Amino acid sequence: MNKALCPVTEKCGGCQLLHLPYRRQLEQKQQLVERLLKPYCPVKPILGAENPLHYRNKVHAAFGTDWQGHIICGTYQAGTHRIVPVQQCCIEDPTASRVINAVRKLMIAFHIAPYNEDTGRGIIRHVLVRTGRRTGQALVTLVIGRPDFPARKAFVEALVQNCPGITSVVVNLNSAKTSMILGQSSRVAYGRGWIEDELCGLTFGISPSSFYQVNAEQAQRLYETAIGYAGLTGRESLLDAYCGIGTIGLAAAGRAARVTGVELNPDAVQDAIRNARRNGIANARFFEGDAGEFLRAGKAGLLDVVMMDPPRAGSDRRFLQSLCQSGAGRVVYVSCNPETLARDLDYLTAHGYRALEATPVDMFPQTEHVETVVFVSRVTKNELK
Ligand code: SAH
Repeated sequence: MNKALCPVTEKCGGCQLLHLPYRRQLEQKQQLVERLLKPYCPVKPILGAENPLHYRNKVHAAFGTDWQGHIICGTYQAGTHRIVPVQQCCIEDPTASRVINAVRKLMIAFHIAPYNEDTGRGIIRHVLVRTGRRTGQALVTLVIGRPDFPARKAFVEALVQNCPGITSVVVNLNSAKTSMILGQSSRVAYGRGWIEDELCGLTFGISPSSFYQVNAEQAQRLYETAIGYAGLTGRESLLDAYCGIGTIGLAAAGRAARVTGVELNPDAVQDAIRNARRNGIANARFFEGDAGEFLRAGKAGLLDVVMMDPPRAGSDRRFLQSLCQSGAGRVVYVSCNPETLARDLDYLTAHGYRALEATPVDMFPQTEHVETVVFVSRVTKNELK
């Protein structure tokens, strides 16, 4: 294991490939994608990252106490609820480590204890830090376990003074006994409550609970590859399914006639609508809902291209069925899990589509995860003869 890069790599378990030189990591991911997608299409060489360290723009730290009662913060030991103290992490944005360490020091100064799920005592449970790589903005979410947070104002002020990169602080209340990090209610304590980042020449606003790719530099290459596969001429009607804050659809909007986005998380949908307006994009609409339900109900209208980017579990039968019935000529499948991708390609290729080419993108250097984009096309009547 590469202890020079990370002293807690074994306990944390997040960077499964840290012991391999980066070139070897890429080879391993390429082989994995080739093995899984072999029955469907050829696989282009993986797009490796120029910066395989400190790329993560979203960082989570859990807070607790050690056996001596000292405040510790870090990550959960793989598969447990035990906190592994982390001072700095080789894949995370260094601003995040600075903020998290500052929170810990201020907790000592302000006599604020970490929240204890069993006793209900203490206050701070988690800290989330999100940074905009291009804009340098940082959004800090303090997740508290109890609504009363004495000296909240002074604490937030001191935090902002200690860490000049912070542009916004949100306090989120999560008093439930749950493994979910964020609770239901949030209050903006400093700044606007969201941050901006730039991708593909556009500016995107991102709220605390909205999904945003953790590696913005590689996300841009991923989107460029996906939009390239879509073969847009300016006349197409495009569906951005599982659209998050609208990144893919908005990046493609200038080359399509019309973009429709659908997304389950209401905050992300609001972000997407604002992002269209922020960038002066008038041909994109966004809807809240289940992507499969939306497609089945025919709410997307006639479609030429479907871009789909589902979560790790992949898409579901309802979506895939409706997609095949929609008659869309081209499908671009963006996936963060090659296993569910292969499963879904199995369905698509058995129902009138064929996969033509895949490109893996290394969004998550040092970890075993890999992103893949696949170009899928409808088999025409002539080809079927
Ligand atoms: N394309 C976006 C987001 C991809 S992540 C980007 O690149 O940033 C997957 C998104 O799917 C998340 O925003 C999640 O909230 C959303 N999602 C999960 N299940 C969904 C469903 N059944 N219908 C629509 N969206 C869903």
